[in-house]
Amino acid sequence: MAAQNLEEIISLCKRRGFIFQSGELYGGLQGVYDYGPLGVELKNNLKAAWWKANVYENDNIYGLDSSILAQKKIFFYSGHETTFCDQMVDCRKCKKRWRVDHLVDARCEHCGSQDLTEPKPFNMMFKTIVGPVEDQDSYAYLRPETAQGIFTNFKNIMDSLSPKLPFGVAQIGKAFRNEITPRNFIFRVREFEQMEIEFFVKPGEDEPWHQEWVERRLTWWKAQGLSEKRLTLSAQGPEELAHYAKATVDILYQFPHGFEELEGVANRTDYDLGSHTQGQAQVAIQANVAVNKDSVHKLTVQDPPGKHFIPYVIEPSAGLDRGVLAVLTEAFHEETLSDDRKRIVLKLKPHLAPIKAAIIPLKRNEPALVETAQTIKHSLQRLGLGRIAYEDTGNIGKSYRRHDEIGTPLCITIDYDTLCTTEENEKSGTVTIRERDSMAQKRIPVSELIEYIQRFYR
Ligand SMILES: [Zn+2]
Repeated sequence: MAAQNLEEIISLCKRRGFIFQSGELYGGLQGVYDYGPLGVELKNNLKAAWWKANVYENDNIYGLDSSILAQKKIFFYSGHETTFCDQMVDCRKCKKRWRVDHLVDARCEHCGSQDLTEPKPFNMMFKTIVGPVEDQDSYAYLRPETAQGIFTNFKNIMDSLSPKLPFGVAQIGKAFRNEITPRNFIFRVREFEQMEIEFFVKPGEDEPWHQEWVERRLTWWKAQGLSEKRLTLSAQGPEELAHYAKATVDILYQFPHGFEELEGVANRTDYDLGSHTQGQAQVAIQANVAVNKDSVHKLTVQDPPGKHFIPYVIEPSAGLDRGVLAVLTEAFHEETLSDDRKRIVLKLKPHLAPIKAAIIPLKRNEPALVETAQTIKHSLQRLGLGRIAYEDTGNIGKSYRRHDEIGTPLCITIDYDTLCTTEENEKSGTVTIRERDSMAQKRIPVSELIEYIQRFYR
């Protein structure tokens, strides 16, 4: 059974070094988290799986890494300055501020008062200042989504790579939203990471491609270990749709706090490229540049040659931090063993595990055991599978429990039989491999270890 409440996941994340509250030393910054030594490995593995499945396995999807600091004009013309808002209310009694759609029975979550102000729009973008002078022209935003960096590079990609429709641009990166009420650990946060693709198609082919991307993304999440019964699709109703979308299907996951959005797959039509085509024509007019065919960059494609049109775009947009939380929720298991002892085990897919294998010498202060264990560690590390841990607590049972909790798929123990060379001992030159989920142990010759590990991670 997966995790039943968020507290057990938060506790494991802190205890074992996955995720910490940011600035905890000074009381913590609300809605901002730091990934610890194991969390960063898990997050990087999830990113790598996404990049491989989308960019490397599709010849028509290209990678991009655009800037986080973004010009004000981009978000004026994208519509975010006027529409990227949540409705908020203030509690007149305790002065706390809430998102109106988060309140139950129109009641302050803090003090329970129903004496609330009328809802007011609150823009969620973080503003900052670029350069030494603080005035209207020096403002920039921390991007609230990675998508705009793709749209504003559309012409650069067309000019440099000449892709043919349909094609996509993929990006993983940080985005920032000044959430009024961050909550549920890393689910709703102010600084987060997105994994987004803008997939450009001919108008008229958008609806089948939208469906195709919903299916592709659902399949991918299942391959990360999320079970079918905890995943569901939800088409947004007209009142929920963002200002740019014709249709959006959300992939919901059953987090400990309920079914919530893990990824949205939106049909953004020609809204964004159309807005930026108009936007920069406006900017050119304001700058008194003669507006003619050449001075305005039309964000269009020609197909067939001579026939210009603005492509439609399908956008699968996943929250990476939410993905990490979903994977942790699914993997978390508390089991009662045959001797009534309990163990916590993270049943992560091997490709996501922060540590690929732990090498454990039977004793920590026996030079021959330590040397052999170190040699094996380095030979496995060179395979490039990820981190191989050398574990010298000198307590095998404790090491197994620790590696169960952090999801290490394999523990390899080096003992006196490993060092033994006599032929009469059938265990000579072998190590013990212990498998995380079944706890089954078997001995294999050291000479076969590399091939065994490579096969396991293939
Ligand atoms: Zn209140």
